[in-house]
Amino acid sequence: MKSVYEILRAKRDGKELTREEIQGFIAGVVSGKIPDYQTAAFLMASVIRGLTTAETAALTEAMRDSGDCWDLSDLAPVVDKHSTGGVGDKVTLPLAPIVAAAGARVGMMSGRGLGHTGGTLDKLASIPGFRTDLDLPRVKKALETVGMALFQQTDSVAPADRTLYALRDVTGTVESLALITASILSKKLASGTHGIVFDVKTGNGAFMKTIEESRALGRSLVDTTRAAGRQATGWITDMSRPLGRAVGNALEMDESIRVARGEGPKRVEEACLLMGVDMLRFARPSLSEAEARKALQDVIASGRAARVLEKAIEFQGGDPKVVEDPSRLPQPKQKIPVAATRSGFVRSIQTEKMGFLSIEIGCGRAKREDTIDFAAGFLVEKTVGDRVEKGEPLAILCLGDRPAPRAHFEQELAALFDIGDTPGTPSPLAVEKL
Ligand code: URA
Repeated sequence: MKSVYEILRAKRDGKELTREEIQGFIAGVVSGKIPDYQTAAFLMASVIRGLTTAETAALTEAMRDSGDCWDLSDLAPVVDKHSTGGVGDKVTLPLAPIVAAAGARVGMMSGRGLGHTGGTLDKLASIPGFRTDLDLPRVKKALETVGMALFQQTDSVAPADRTLYALRDVTGTVESLALITASILSKKLASGTHGIVFDVKTGNGAFMKTIEESRALGRSLVDTTRAAGRQATGWITDMSRPLGRAVGNALEMDESIRVARGEGPKRVEEACLLMGVDMLRFARPSLSEAEARKALQDVIASGRAARVLEKAIEFQGGDPKVVEDPSRLPQPKQKIPVAATRSGFVRSIQTEKMGFLSIEIGCGRAKREDTIDFAAGFLVEKTVGDRVEKGEPLAILCLGDRPAPRAHFEQELAALFDIGDTPGTPSPLAVEKL
């Protein structure tokens, strides 16, 4: 058996590791025998050298088996959605109550922000009092009584992913098909859900920037989940612009509430319908696609989705009145319009850079121990294809307790919008079904 040092050298040199070596390495990460600096070296070597299919499968299994695997079979089917991450991607927050209100049990184990992308747990934490640290009995109770549960990994579920995820977030080691597959699937398979829709983002704000990379990741996620005996489908969706208007935790929570109430941006609602149809049909297979879509639209229009969201927030210890009155969420202390320097059409937005700028004002973490400023973020006023006049706001910079990190920060934000004389061709939301 190789020592940790030899394993690192082997991966550095592009050699294939055995299942036992990967299992031993992950066991060492979880027990604390392997320090963070060696884990970080392993991650960097894995990103640069890549992992083979066999190594990826071994890593996924080792991470899944690093803790408890939950059994939700008495509540089957429990359905789930997982996004590969984006900017302004708040889909989980309105989607869960919409699908639950239409009659499926929705259980989602979610994560914190990663790299330039926001995390569902951070968005939920902007609701005063809301707790995501549910144990298995509480998750089951929520699924039985409310129909949905949004929760974090407990200490005992896929602990290896928690450690690796936090290190990847701050060491530039997120963008790897193998590491993303192992991260997502280890916790999804351990959390016991029965049907998963994968939302694989593509474009300049996604981890996978090209359609080929996104397709490869999507296939890897869908095929491995099916091989593990769970239902799976997937969509490749556009992340070459922020999704919706809001970027930042409380701002995105506010927008999500509005989507659940039928008053949100249509592109976010459409993303919910796209994923929701597949989720609902896992639970109610007799529904056609059109019937499932109609059922989801009905619960939005009737207010039932908003009522389920209220109940879920109450069950998880949060202030349910935020659904009626989103101004109870943390509010920005300053709102600074960011003006266009010329007239024309927005041709593209540098979405990943926008994600990184959002971290600088407190929407995410640059270091593991950083705290979040829930009120901070951006409101995107003009998006790809829109006409803008010189001096009109492209975005609104919302600051919470922290000042802008440097002078001319607004100009940096404005420079992310490429304005030209013609509208270009904005990408549709749904790029491809996997
Ligand atoms: N979501 C995850 O849970 N892990 C990743 O690596 C990327 C997105």
